[in-house]
Amino acid sequence: MSKLKTFILYIILAVVLSQTANLLRFRVSVLMNKLMITAASLILVQAFTFIFGSDHLKWTILLFIGIAGYSFNLKGGLAAAVLGFLIISLQTGSVELFLLPVYLLVGAGAGYAAHYLNHQKRDLHQWMNMLMKQSKHLQVFREVSTTMQSTLQQDLLLKVILTSVTAGHGLGFNRAMIFLSSSDLQSLKGVVGVGPMDVKRGYEVWEKISEDRLKLRDLIEHNFDSNFTDPELNSILQSLDIPFTEHNVFGQALSSQKPVIVNKIDRNDDSQVLIHELFQTDEFAVIPLINQGKNIGILLIDNIVNKRPITLSDTENILPLANQAAIALDHASLYERIEEMALRDGLTGLLNQRAFQNVLNEHFPFEGSGRGPLSLVIFDIDFFKVFNDKNGHLLGNEVLMKLARVIEESLRPGHFSFRFGGEEFVVLLPDTCLEGAGDIAEAIRWNVEKASFPGEETQPNGFLTVSMGTACTDHPDVTNKNELIDAADKALYKAKNAGRNIVVSYKEFVGID
Ligand code: GH3
Ligand code: MG
Ligand code: MG
Repeated sequence: MSKLKTFILYIILAVVLSQTANLLRFRVSVLMNKLMITAASLILVQAFTFIFGSDHLKWTILLFIGIAGYSFNLKGGLAAAVLGFLIISLQTGSVELFLLPVYLLVGAGAGYAAHYLNHQKRDLHQWMNMLMKQSKHLQVFREVSTTMQSTLQQDLLLKVILTSVTAGHGLGFNRAMIFLSSSDLQSLKGVVGVGPMDVKRGYEVWEKISEDRLKLRDLIEHNFDSNFTDPELNSILQSLDIPFTEHNVFGQALSSQKPVIVNKIDRNDDSQVLIHELFQTDEFAVIPLINQGKNIGILLIDNIVNKRPITLSDTENILPLANQAAIALDHASLYERIEEMALRDGLTGLLNQRAFQNVLNEHFPFEGSGRGPLSLVIFDIDFFKVFNDKNGHLLGNEVLMKLARVIEESLRPGHFSFRFGGEEFVVLLPDTCLEGAGDIAEAIRWNVEKASFPGEETQPNGFLTVSMGTACTDHPDVTNKNELIDAADKALYKAKNAGRNIVVSYKEFVGID
């Protein structure tokens, strides 16, 4: 074969090899890739030898040494230097010893340079990853904060919090559960959790999430229940009421106000054993939810599906979210309590006037509303002024409290009782006609008469009694809410005039007044 042909063949081989290496670089292993490039460089060196003759070989071989050093670090560089030296000695037929240290130096230099650059690249990569992660956390945090601020509904908040820490849209934990402090702050009650009960179900859920690529709002509004809440997980969770002490992991997280990572179940801690056994988890983290020193609850997270260990930085990342969640949950429960207080009478605990208006609006049967008849009972304590005068206002208050209990005990679910003001009470009876209302009123009247009240012996009859008026929307005189109240009021007036301690129904007025 002529020299030219061999040269061209070498060039083609070198080009083909390097191009193949280039094409395959994402498909083959890194080692294979490096081997191909190094081999291509050696072939190129051979090709050069044909152009410039073996005189220049000792310089062109530096290309091979440099590339080998760059690809395989120090060891590769040194090995290529020795190999290069042998090739030169064989090709030229003479051993030029001074070349060896030069080659070794070049090989080592290339090796070091590669090592340094790779290190830098790795660092850069790590920084990039961290930045991406932080930016994702920030995005989740921003979105979640906005959603949290837009609601005071506790159940919606719980969903937002859980969605924001689990896979799909949030920080990526496989499972999350929320426990809230009981009202006496002695224990934690399981409330709601997202994530699978076991690994198999976990994979199914994850597939669904990655298929749908849902937005936070969609997750919360439409898919939360069907996709994420495992009914078994939630029924177990909701049955839990874990006391927190200094000795269990929940107490530790709350008293130290820091997340606790459990990566080995401590058999001496009952709460850890319980979580491990009920939820088949070997590793989990407990994040305290605290607002202004008040224990709101805890967030429990784990990675049951992918078994990724929970790191310190994971828990640190979750903390701002947990703090935000604690504030939002605290506000929601305060709001709920205030709302509840606004609708209840402080003395008797019964619903108040304001609540009465709401319930009346809700149940009043308008034309076409499809609601059944609504009955109203109004009653008033007989001679209560006398009672107060003889026994004092405080005992009067006690009587009002006791009376409220007697009323409540006389009613069935679906009936509503209210303190209308002073010593007047009302009962609303949806889907009840006048006759039914009369029976219920009579039952209350009788229960009041036979119940014993403190100081009642001073009453004119010797015991405490009430007079009652009833009215129902099925009467032709009653076309609106005010007329219903008026009708019952008139009946009450009649009951007072008729001697007290009786029930009068509004129909009895027809033709009389
Ligand atoms: P009647 O049988 O006609 O209803 O006679 P009465 O004495 O009950 O008369 P009236 O209903 O006019 O008087 C209501 C009394 O109830 C006057 C008031 O001092 C008392 N009262 C109203 N609210 C309270 C309260 O919150 N606590 C106490 N202890 N007394 C109250
Ligand atoms: Mg009165
Ligand atoms: Mg009275």
